[in-house]
Amino acid sequence: MTALTDPLAIVEITPSAGVHTLTHGWRAKCLQRLIRMELPVPASFAVSADAVRAIAAGQIPDRARLAAIIERADGLVSVRPSAQNPAWGGPGTVLNVGINAACHARLAETRGKSAADALYLGFVQAYAIHVARLDPDMFSDSDVGLETALRSYEDETDEEFPQDPTRQLAEVLRSMARAWDGPTARLLRQAKGAPATAPLGLVVQDMALAIGPGVTGSGTIQFADSVTGAPRITGRFRGQSQGRARGEGAETLYLTRDPRGPSLQEAAPEVFADLVRYGVAARERLREEMQIEFVVSDGHVSVIDAIRTQRSSRASVRIAVALARDGIIEPRDAVMRVEPRALSDLLHHQVDPRAPRDVITRGINASPGAATGRIVFTSASAQDAEARGERCVLVRRETVPEDIRGMHASVAVLTERGGMTSHAAVIARGLGLPCIVGASGLSIDTRARIMIAGGREFHEGEEITIDGTSGEVLAGAAEMLEPALDDSFAQLLEWADAHCRITVRANADTPEDARTARMFNAQGIGLCRTEHMFFDDERLPAMREMIFATRPEDRSLSLERLLPMQRSDFTKLFEIMAGLPVTIRLFDPPLHEFLPHDREGMRELAESLDLPLSDVTRRVDALSEFNPMLGMRGVRLGITVPEIYDMQARAIFEATIEASRNGAAVVPEVMIPLVSARREVELVKTRIDAVAAAVRNETRKDFAYRLGVMVETPRAALRAGDIAEHAAFLSFGTNDLTQMTYGLSRDDAGRFMGTYVNQGVYSEDPFHILDREGVGELVAIGAERARLHKRDITISICGEHGGNPESIAFCLRAGVNYVSCSPFRVPVARLAAAQESI
Ligand code: PEP
Ligand code: MG
Repeated sequence: MTALTDPLAIVEITPSAGVHTLTHGWRAKCLQRLIRMELPVPASFAVSADAVRAIAAGQIPDRARLAAIIERADGLVSVRPSAQNPAWGGPGTVLNVGINAACHARLAETRGKSAADALYLGFVQAYAIHVARLDPDMFSDSDVGLETALRSYEDETDEEFPQDPTRQLAEVLRSMARAWDGPTARLLRQAKGAPATAPLGLVVQDMALAIGPGVTGSGTIQFADSVTGAPRITGRFRGQSQGRARGEGAETLYLTRDPRGPSLQEAAPEVFADLVRYGVAARERLREEMQIEFVVSDGHVSVIDAIRTQRSSRASVRIAVALARDGIIEPRDAVMRVEPRALSDLLHHQVDPRAPRDVITRGINASPGAATGRIVFTSASAQDAEARGERCVLVRRETVPEDIRGMHASVAVLTERGGMTSHAAVIARGLGLPCIVGASGLSIDTRARIMIAGGREFHEGEEITIDGTSGEVLAGAAEMLEPALDDSFAQLLEWADAHCRITVRANADTPEDARTARMFNAQGIGLCRTEHMFFDDERLPAMREMIFATRPEDRSLSLERLLPMQRSDFTKLFEIMAGLPVTIRLFDPPLHEFLPHDREGMRELAESLDLPLSDVTRRVDALSEFNPMLGMRGVRLGITVPEIYDMQARAIFEATIEASRNGAAVVPEVMIPLVSARREVELVKTRIDAVAAAVRNETRKDFAYRLGVMVETPRAALRAGDIAEHAAFLSFGTNDLTQMTYGLSRDDAGRFMGTYVNQGVYSEDPFHILDREGVGELVAIGAERARLHKRDITISICGEHGGNPESIAFCLRAGVNYVSCSPFRVPVARLAAAQESI
């Protein structure tokens, strides 16, 4: 074994010492800043990450150096971890290193026997458990006294408890250095985003003793509320206590005056005033809201540490905005300091993080927010519950388009199957409903109206809580936090917009969606899925009639019924968006989705169409496909049954004229879905141009429109160059593009996605975070080829990835002009896009 003699291995932290976060960790650097501010920090020493690595590998720290540190510290020191990032944790702090029988006797004289016993016992316990690795049960019991602890130590190790302070310190450093390399510590920090090889520094600090005469104790103080972010002094003060050591008369005090009991503010007003002064100074100099750890020894305050105040999502917004408003940081810094995802927590109810959680199963957290309601297993029951004024949670194996009404009537949705882009997930995000999909631990018996989760049975009508933010299903009701769309939220987004290089639009299908989109300042609609407009009670029969029509004249009759409804849909959207761009996607799904799926439904349909039941079943069978997602849908339907697109184009143009009459001029964007060949675009374009010409002729009004193409098939991405020739814009539909690039069903992938991600087959769920290497490459190739043919073509993305911060960063680099996402994800997207732009 060699000795570690590098003089820089352990440096005293002074205002000018070369201490850096990279080499010595955040705690050492933070202490240096506090020392530079001349706060009363006990003498502190930083052990560099290189030295810690060497110690873990077996080198022994220079004993003379350690002896000098302990001597200066009047015999006692603490050792604390100092990783590069406080979130990465580290081995637990060890206090009172250096204490031995002689020191114990000295302390007994100056501070009393019980104080000395408590301090010595605390160290013996920590040393026995963490350094000598003895059975914790023998030492951690609260009845264990000093004598017993020392005897147990000797019995177990056959040696006296180490009395040499230098040896104690060397052993503590070694055990902490080694603990950092243990598998549990590695896993824990990797889960917090630390690289496996993340270094650890250590800090050795003079002990400020918190057990002794006068006002003495230890505590923490912070100046902003961790849950709300509001300015408020909170924390605690433990008199006659330090770590696990308790002296005689130990008691916990409130910090500020409190009717419930004694407070430090009353017991020692000068101490309290000092702490407040230090807090204000630390906030200004460290440009951050800090929690201060302190010790009071006979009325004298020592600041022993400071860390960034822990904060919820809403507190993170409020704190960042307050720091910028107080001129401590720049607004752009405030924009950078808030995790974009945190904003989605503010938009919805959240389960209170402090409340107990009775988790019964988990799934994919498909739409954030939380809600409690009674279980219903069918959309009809959901509508009945709504009619009775009851809040309900729709629980389904998976949802189909017909469930849209049931979803509207529910406060949350839970499905056993599905993934991030399955029907339930997409619709719930659009509606802002908390939703969990792919909860494969769930088993549903719709007939018996029972679901089994976590080995427990839940009946229709029982209450559950869906936490769509975490993906957890909870039994019963849970304590909730209200949404917090406050002034800080609005201010942060205003600052974000000032820095943003791309625009953010919303995917909105209904006037209600459009209003939400505007409320969140979306700069247009990037995707209106028109098929979602056909599911209400009035329209579905007309739609079904159209599907059942066998002669063109019958079909056009049904389409004529649908035309005014569509026209009014579009007029409303244009009016609400007041001149902002609106992209309307022509009909996309397979027709059979609009037909009933059970016998009862078919019977009803036969009745309403006045057809024999056998005709209806035959037609439904004829329309059904083995693989509908790759079958007769999208533009394929538009080419084989062109009258549907004709009707939609007419509705769009007539609405354009109507909306332009009263408000800003509307230039609608018409988008063709699921294209794979240029000829498809040519055929559709010819018909739409003809409809436009007809409408202009009939109305004698002129208008412009832009025709665009959705790039959702790998072939469309590869052939984007020639497809671009007929398109004013291309919008990447990354849901289908992901499905088709991977050959992975977006509605079924939830079943095995967890296994795939856990085993590292995919690093993330590609329906959630854009797969940069595969799907992303297609996007990049498509964008490049399209621009090569048409330099000024508008390029966007409107799949669910448009609301995902990591994916937005990629899109920005790939040169998209805008992203479009569910209305409730618009704020997240605005912040993420701003952060990428800064
Ligand atoms: C897509 O495929 O990415 C898309 C936006 O369309 P949809 O989700 O409606 O298939
Ligand atoms: Mg699609």
